Amino acid sequence: MSLPPATPPAAARARAYDVLVIGSGIAGLSFALKVAQQGRSVAILTKKNKADSNTNWAQGGIAVVTAETDDFAKHVADTLVAGDGLCDRKVVKQIITDGPARVREIFARRRRRLRPRPGRRP
Ligand SMILES: Cc1cc2nc3c(=O)[nH]c(=O)nc-3n(C[C@H](O)[C@H](O)[C@H](O)COP(=O)(O)OP(=O)(O)OC[C@H]3O[C@@H](n4cnc5c(N)ncnc54)[C@H](O)[C@@H]3O)c2cc1C
Repeated sequence: MSLPPATPPAAARARAYDVLVIGSGIAGLSFALKVAQQGRSVAILTKKNKADSNTNWAQGGIAVVTAETDDFAKHVADTLVAGDGLCDRKVVKQIITDGPARVREIFARRRRRLRPRPGRRP
């Protein structure tokens, strides 16, 4: 008579990932997509549920400097006021300066996703 297979210890059941992303807002998900596209396995760890983020509340589109008439300094000032003393000016400046490039990446990814596959109708 054969015995049923033993339940493996918790450590043996644990799964291994190349990258652990903490947070499922736009920053965490964008990074997770980027590393996944490089062929790495990714686990996303978030606080409550996957829709629990500021990203989920944002409704007005992505605030980023795209027009020549717009101004990085105004976006920095606006963010510092909204942050009410909690923001690190250096980090805010970096994020706002990088904004246009990150938005171009999102649009490029979307264009690749919408491109019809060979043999498929557009
Ligand atoms: C009401 C509202 C409206 C907004 N409208 C706009 C808008 O129109 N345009 C615009 O550009 N921006 C808007 N914003 C700002 C915008 O939402 C944020 O700048 C952006 O979503 C931040 O993205 P993020 O990924 O850095 O952070 P978040 O989206 O906040 O993601 C953080 C993630 O980390 C997780 N997390 C936090 N702490 C822990 C922890 N201890 N352990 C595990 N996980 C944790 C959270 O659960 C969440 O998944 C708005 C914000 C709010 C609140």
